[in-house]
Amino acid sequence: MKRDVVIIGSGLGGLVCAFVLSRMGRSVLVLEKERQPGGCLQSYRRRGWNFDTGFHYVGGLAEGQSLHAAFDYLGLLSLPWHRLDPASERIRIGERMFSLMQGYEAFADTLSAQFPSQRKALSEYVALLAQTNRSSADVLNPRAEVTDWGTSLWGTGAYAYLMNTFHDAELVDALSGASLKMELKRDSLPLFTFLHGNGSYVESSWRLRGDGSLLVDALVRGIRSQGGEVLCGSEVTKLSEANGRLAYACCANGECYEADTFICDAHPAVACRLVEQSRLLRNVYRSRIARLENTSGMFTLALRLKPRTFPYVNWNQYIYREPGVWSAADAEVPAGGGLMVSCRVPQEGNAYAEQIDLLTPMPWSVCRMWQDTEPGRRGEAYAAMKADWAEACLTLAEECFPGLRSMIAEQYTSTPLTYAHYTYSPQGSAYGVRKDFRNPLQTVLSARTPIPNLLLTGQSLMLHGLQGVTMTALFTCAALVGKEKVWSEVFLREP
Ligand SMILES: Cc1cc2nc3c(=O)[nH]c(=O)nc-3n(C[C@H](O)[C@H](O)[C@H](O)COP(=O)(O)OP(=O)(O)OC[C@H]3O[C@@H](n4cnc5c(N)ncnc54)[C@H](O)[C@@H]3O)c2cc1C
Repeated sequence: MKRDVVIIGSGLGGLVCAFVLSRMGRSVLVLEKERQPGGCLQSYRRRGWNFDTGFHYVGGLAEGQSLHAAFDYLGLLSLPWHRLDPASERIRIGERMFSLMQGYEAFADTLSAQFPSQRKALSEYVALLAQTNRSSADVLNPRAEVTDWGTSLWGTGAYAYLMNTFHDAELVDALSGASLKMELKRDSLPLFTFLHGNGSYVESSWRLRGDGSLLVDALVRGIRSQGGEVLCGSEVTKLSEANGRLAYACCANGECYEADTFICDAHPAVACRLVEQSRLLRNVYRSRIARLENTSGMFTLALRLKPRTFPYVNWNQYIYREPGVWSAADAEVPAGGGLMVSCRVPQEGNAYAEQIDLLTPMPWSVCRMWQDTEPGRRGEAYAAMKADWAEACLTLAEECFPGLRSMIAEQYTSTPLTYAHYTYSPQGSAYGVRKDFRNPLQTVLSARTPIPNLLLTGQSLMLHGLQGVTMTALFTCAALVGKEKVWSEVFLREP
C-alpha cells in the first residue's frame, strides 16, 4: 500500500508533521526506531516512577501567545499544564541572585530595579523579545509583510549584541543565566536563537503535571484517530529510489514502505546516510551537511526524593559558581557550565516535590571514549565519571537548596552518549545543528532538500525546543502543502 507521506522519526517534529498532514487527509506513516515514540520527549520508568528526558518546561501557551494556536490545533492545550510562579526563572551567579519574570513589563521592571541605569535598554530588549515571539508565526502568514528583520538577527552575534547594548557584564550574565536551553557560545550563537530561546518563557512558563510522554501520547492518539499510523521498532536504514524519485523507506527488519513524499525528523546527517547510495543527492549537499557542527549535549541527574522532605518550588533555579556565564559554557569540568534545577509538579494535594532533575552541559570530549560501547557495558570508569558529575551537580544545587543530598531516595543519570544511542543525535547533541551567525546561510537549514520528494524537519533546521520544533514542523508541512493551507488550518481556525 502506497502512502502519501512516510516520516522517519517520531520526535516532536515528526509527530507534529504527521498530525498536521493526517488532519489534512493525507495518508501518513511514522517509522520510529525505538520501542517508544517521542525522541527527546520519551520518559523512562524505574521502580514505578517515570523520569523525563528532554522536557522540563515550555513557554508561550496562554491565549494570544506564540505557541497557543499551534498547541490548540494539536490538541495539546487540554493536557494538565501548570503555570510557574511569576518569577519563573531564578538565577544565582556566585553570591548574587536575579529573577526573570513572566510578562514583558514585569521582566524589564524587575531587572531595572537592580540595574536602574539600564531601564531604557531593557525596554528595547523586551520589545525585541516580543517581536521575535510574533515572528515565527508571521513567517507562515501569506499576507504578512516580508522584511529582512529576522534575517538580520540570524546574522548578528548574541553575545556582541548584549555587550554592546548593555555595557554591563553582570546584567548580561543575568539576561543569559536561564539560557542552558541553548548553547551559549560567544563565537557562534545568533541573536535570533538567543531571543527565540528565551522569548516564549517571558510570555508565560509552564510545566506539565506528569511527564513528557503525555505530549507524545496525545499526538500519537490524534494521528491514529485521523487515520495515520505510528510504527515503533522500525529503524529506517535506506531510502531507495525508482524512476528518478525516492520511492521506499526500508527498515532494518526487512519491511519496505512506499510513499510519494518522505520527511526525515532525524538529524540531517542521518537523512544523508539513508540516501548514501542515491545519485539524487548531490555531493555538494552531502558535504555541506557533513561540515555542520552540533551543539553540545547535557548531563542529567534525575532524583527521586524521600517523601515530605523537599517543599516543591514552582520555578526553575539556575546556578553558576561565579560570574562569566558565557565563558562557563565551554567548561569541561563537572557542572562548570552552570546548573538548572527543575522540580516535577507533585501529585495534586502534595506540597512536596517527589522528583527533581539537575541538568548541566556536558561536552562530547568528556564521554567520547565510550562512544563505541553499548549502554550497560561502559564499565567502571564511565560510572566513576558520571558519579563525579553527579557529585558536582549536587554540590552546586546545595548552594540554593541546602541538605538536598540527604533527601535523595534514588538517582539516575544520563549523558550525551544516552542521546547518541537512543535518538542518533550526533555526539549526543542536545539541540541539533549549531547555528552560526557568521554563516547563517549554511547553518540554518531549509525543509527542502535537493531531492524534490525528501523534506527535513526537527530541531536541526531552524529552531529548537518545543516551541521551535513545533513551528519548524509547520514550515515543513508548508513546504509540502503550501503556506496558505497551513496558515488557514492552524492560525485562522474557528475556536
Ligand atoms: C536534556 C534536554 C532537556 C531539554 N529540555 C527542554 C525543555 O525543558 N523545553 C523545551 O522546549 N525543549 C527542551 N529540550 C529540547 C527538545 O527536547 C528538543 O528540541 C525536541 O524534543 C527535539 O525534537 P526533534 O523531533 O527535533 O528530534 P528528536 O527528539 O531527536 O527525534 C528524532 C527521532 O528520530 C528517531 N530516529 C533517528 N534515526 C532514525 C531512523 N533511522 N529510523 C527511524 N527513526 C529514527 C529517533 O529515535 C528520535 O525518536 C531539551 C533537550 C534535551 C536534550
